[in-house]
Amino acid sequence: MSDLATLTQQALDEVAASTTLAALGEVRVRWLGKKGLLTEQLKSLGALPAAERPAAGAKINDAKQVVQAAIEAAEAKLVAAEVEAQLAAGRIDVTATGRGEARGGVHPVTRARLRIESIFRHSGFEIATGPEIEDDFHNFEALNIPADHPARAMHDTFYFPDGRLLRTHTSPVQIRELRKGRLPLAMIMPGRVYRCDYDMTHSPMFHQVEGLVVNENVSFANLKATLQGFLQAYFERDLRTRLRPSYFPFTEPSAEVDMSCVFCNGEGCRVCKHTGWLEVGGCGMVHPNVFKAAGVDAERWTGYAFGMGIERLAMLRDGVSDLRLFFESDLRFLRQFGAA
Ligand SMILES: [Zn+2]
Repeated sequence: MSDLATLTQQALDEVAASTTLAALGEVRVRWLGKKGLLTEQLKSLGALPAAERPAAGAKINDAKQVVQAAIEAAEAKLVAAEVEAQLAAGRIDVTATGRGEARGGVHPVTRARLRIESIFRHSGFEIATGPEIEDDFHNFEALNIPADHPARAMHDTFYFPDGRLLRTHTSPVQIRELRKGRLPLAMIMPGRVYRCDYDMTHSPMFHQVEGLVVNENVSFANLKATLQGFLQAYFERDLRTRLRPSYFPFTEPSAEVDMSCVFCNGEGCRVCKHTGWLEVGGCGMVHPNVFKAAGVDAERWTGYAFGMGIERLAMLRDGVSDLRLFFESDLRFLRQFGAA
C-alpha cells in the first residue's frame, strides 16, 4: 500500500492549485473517480491479510472524504467568485460621467418669465394663473368691453364654435382673482395668450404678465414706482420711465409705459427709432366697471393694473430682434441662452 498520507496531501495540493471549475472537475476524476488514484487504493486491500482489511479500508475512505470535502469547499468558492464576476460585469456605475449627451436648458422666454416672477415675488406679489380657454364674460364683458365695443376688433380673437375663446390677454385672471373676494391683494399673472396675428413682432401665441394691486388708497404714483422698480431690477441698471396717456377699456386713467432705451441709454438709436424711449407695456387704475363686474366695492377699494409682453422683455434684455426666433425651436439660436 502506497503512503496514503502522501497521496492525500498530493490530492489536496492539486485541489488548492485549481483556479477554475473545469480544473477542479479533472482533479475530482483523477483522485475520486472509478479509476481514481484513491479509489484504486481500495483494490489493493485484497492483498492484505483479512484482519487488517477493515482498518485499512476505513483509512482510505477517510482520505477520500477529506479530499471530497476539500473539493466541495473549493467548488463553492469558485462558484461564488464566478457569480461575483458576473455581477461586477453587469454593474452600472451611476456616478460615471455621461458620454457626450448635451445638457438641456430653459427656453429664453421661460427664463424671462421666471426672472419676472422672482423680482415680483421679492416685492411681496403673489403669482396667479387662469385658464387659456376663456368665456366671453371673463375675457371681455367683465373687463368693460361689451359686445359692441370697438376694442374687440383690436383683439383678433380665436373663437370656438360654442362661443368660448382662446384668451386674448391675461386680464381675465384679474376678474377670477377679484371674484374670490380676498382683498387687499398684490399679484402678477403670467401666461400664454392668443391672437390671430403673425409678423416680426407678433406671434399667434405669446406670453403676457399682468399685474394687479388692490388696496385702500392705492395711487397712480404707487403704480409708477412699482413699474420703475421692476424695470430697473429686470434690466439691472438705472433707467427712466415715463407714462404716456392712453386708452384701455378696463383702466381709467390709462397709460402706455415707456422706459429709456437700454441700447443707447436714451441717446437715440435704431432700436428706439432715435426717440430714446422703448414701449414696454400698458397700465392704469382699475376701472370702476371692472370692480363692479367682479363684485368689489369701488367706493372702498382702489387698484392699479399693468400688462407687459414677456417676449418683448426677453427681446430687449437679450438683444433679439425677431420675435419668431423664440418659437422656431432652432437649437443654434436657443444654445446662445444656455439652452444646450
Ligand atoms: Zn435707443
